[in-house]
Formats: sequence, C-alpha cells, structure tokens
Amino acid sequence: MRQSKLFTKTKKENPADEASKNAELLIRGGFIHKEMAGVYTYLPLGLRTLKKIEKIIREEMNAIGGQEVSMTALQDPEIWKKTGRWDDDVVDVWFKTKLKNDTELGLGCTHEEPITNMMTNFISSYRDLPMFAYQFQTKFRNELRAKAGILRGREFLMKDMYSFCKDEKEHDEFYEKSKVAYMNVYKRVGLGHITYIVFASGGMFSKYSHEFQTITSVGEDLIYLDENKGIAVNKEVLNDDVLTSLGLKRENLVEHKAIEVGNIFTYGKRYSEPLNLNFMNETGESNPVFMGAYGIGVSRLMGTVVEALSDDKGIIWPEEIAPFKVHLLALGDSEKVTAQANMIYEQLNEAGVEVLFDDRLENSAGEKFADADLLGMPYRAVVSERSITAGGIELKKRTEEKGKIVSLEELLKIVSEKN
Ligand code: ATP
Ligand code: MG
Repeated sequence: MRQSKLFTKTKKENPADEASKNAELLIRGGFIHKEMAGVYTYLPLGLRTLKKIEKIIREEMNAIGGQEVSMTALQDPEIWKKTGRWDDDVVDVWFKTKLKNDTELGLGCTHEEPITNMMTNFISSYRDLPMFAYQFQTKFRNELRAKAGILRGREFLMKDMYSFCKDEKEHDEFYEKSKVAYMNVYKRVGLGHITYIVFASGGMFSKYSHEFQTITSVGEDLIYLDENKGIAVNKEVLNDDVLTSLGLKRENLVEHKAIEVGNIFTYGKRYSEPLNLNFMNETGESNPVFMGAYGIGVSRLMGTVVEALSDDKGIIWPEEIAPFKVHLLALGDSEKVTAQANMIYEQLNEAGVEVLFDDRLENSAGEKFADADLLGMPYRAVVSERSITAGGIELKKRTEEKGKIVSLEELLKIVSEKN
C-alpha cells in the first residue's frame, strides 16, 4: 500500500475529546475515527489489525471444535421475556427500537437467548452433543460511561461462543480446553506475558466464572495475583472463604489494575430450561442441555494492545496483528532514491511481505520518522541517499533504538521470517 494513496492522514495533536491512550494513538494514527462517544469507525489501517485479531481467534476457536455462525443483531423480545432478561431493570444496557407497527425490537447486547432458541431446531438427541458454535458479531450496549476509547464501546465487536453439552462432566472438559485456546489468543496478540486467568463471580451455576485480565495501569478492574502460584482473583470475589478454598494467602497477593479481555461462564440449565432446549439421553429420558458461554471483546483486545504495548512515540504492534509488517520510507525526492525505493517496494510485494510504502513527496524525513513510530509497524526500512551510499537499506525494528544497513537480499530474508 502506498501511503500517498491512503486516504487517512496522521495527526500531530491528540484529539481534545479523548482521555484514553488507545483512543489518542489510534485516532492520531488514522486507525479509527470517532463518530460519537463509544462509537468508532475502523479505517483501513485499523481494520487490518481488527481482522488479524479476528483471524487468530477464529483459528483458535476452530481448533477446539467451534463452528462459526453469524446471528442477527435484531432481537425478538418474546424470546428474552422467557428468561426474564427483556426488562431494563434486569439488563440495563439495552438499546431498544420499534417496527413501524409499534412492535418492540432489541439490538443484541449478547446472544444467549436467540442461540439457545435457535438450537431447539438442531438439537434433539445425545447424538447431537457436544456442540460448540461461535460468531464475530457487533454488539450494542447502552453503556453509562464510554470514555475509554475502544475499550468500552456502545457498539463493539465481540466473539461469543456457546457450548451445548449433555452434562457437567462433558462441559468441564470443553471449559478447560477453552481456557487454553483463550490463552493462545492472548499470546498471539502479544499480551501473553501480562494476561492472567482470574477467578470472578459465577452467578448462575458454578461458584466462579473465569475472566481473562490483562494487567495495565488503566484497567477498570482490580485483580489480586499470587505470582508464584499464577492464580489471580477479581476484587469482586475476594474474601476469606474464597482465599481458603483456592489455597491463597492475602499477604502473597499483589493488587493490579487490569482490563477484562475475555470471560467464560458455566450456565448449566439457566437458558436451556426456560427456552426448552432439551435432548433425549441414551435411555430415552429428556433433559435440558448443559450450556456455557465464552466471550472475547475483539475491539477491546485491540485497544488493550495499544494501552499495554506503546511508548511515548506511538504504537508498537506485535507482528501477528500489525497492519503491515514493514514500513518502507523513501527520504528525499531524488531520482535515485525514488527508483530504488520503488524497486524495493515491488520486491517486497512480490515476496508476499505486507508493506506500507511512505512514498509521499511533500513530507520531511522527520515527519516520516515520526509517522513510522506513531503507526508502529514492526520493521522500518529507510531508503535515502545516505543508505544507498552505505550500501543498501537502513533496517530497524520498532523496538530497537538503532538500525543497521542491509542489502535487499538480507532485507527480504529478515522480513520474510516468521518470528
Ligand atoms: P465489563 O465488565 O467490562 O462491562 P462484561 O462482563 O459486561 O464486561 P461480557 O458481557 O461477558 O462482558 O462480554 C464479553 C467480553 O466482551 C468482555 O470480556 C469484554 O472483553 C468485552 N466487552 C464487554 N463490554 C464491552 C464494551 N462495552 N466494549 C468493548 N468490549 C466489551
Ligand atoms: Mg458490561
């Protein structure tokens, strides 16, 4: 992609109406555009990263047997009334609307009700179980506070998976697999070293649910971590009984602010019973399906990466989710530099390397360097009179202070490697 053709532009100044680092950097870099509080458009650069995160999650969900679907955002109140969750006093984030004939509809904030209802068409016997279905879907939530950029949207992208099992034992097996798949996702987006599985309030069937929390200074949640044991507890369930049951001591716990980047729940019959999702077991007896749910905030995860992995100059995208792997900069407008940079751009494209080419003629070297730091691609490759005289291209990782001169062959070799 040629930067001269990219319709988005970087900005030097932080937006005046944003308080969070993720929104500041993503807006300045032209990754997202703010429509209104909690509502953002994903621009070409930002969408590439969002799609890459989605791809990672899809691979990990498929690996544990997930089948992808895509459900509608429009919600039929009759289904939600059966579980008691249509009422605004019960679910306080509903956006509701009406058909022309005054029939009420909701905009989905989550999808337990419609998916359970739908599965009555497909599940009838123990032979149909276990089954796992997931989707990437836009959720709508009328959040009271939407001041944290894409960490808390009123419209946001979620991956939600639902499991349908015969009994608790079958459910537990999948639940444990999902924990591993989730941690794989966080590792692959570059947050594995600061993301923990945390005991949180369970509510319906189980004593606990599990949250995945990424430690950052801006998180809304407080978690208590025993670093030696690798066990963490959300503040909301922190009490003596819980500590005893988990074998933890208060004095070994360190408090951290963290962002909830996912959570998994055991529901049991909470939704299957009121919505009549039953199956016939081996002996011909009818039972409610044993359910669980597994959520990841895809857009929140992108915001969390920015919060956790940036410096004072800009974003530092991990390789697997960077919009482009290489940011190629042509400095100056001499014919020699232009010809050389164009040739390298073509070679990289031919080698299948994703490259953003700063071919803009009107920008200074300083502006181009500043943009490269702000946009945060893993590699910066500079072509200038000086680099050509020195024998090639100056290659620098975003995480390094200083670059080195490499030949075109070396460049191709280094950036083609999967790290
Ligand atoms: P929170 O406590 O942060 O409001 P939640 O408990 O309401 O989250 P769930 O309903 O379980 O979250 O949603 C699953 C996942 O979706 C969460 O773990 C989080 O990563 C993400 N998420 C929830 N609300 C938002 C939001 N308003 N904007 C972006 N992501 C969200
Ligand atoms: Mg919430």
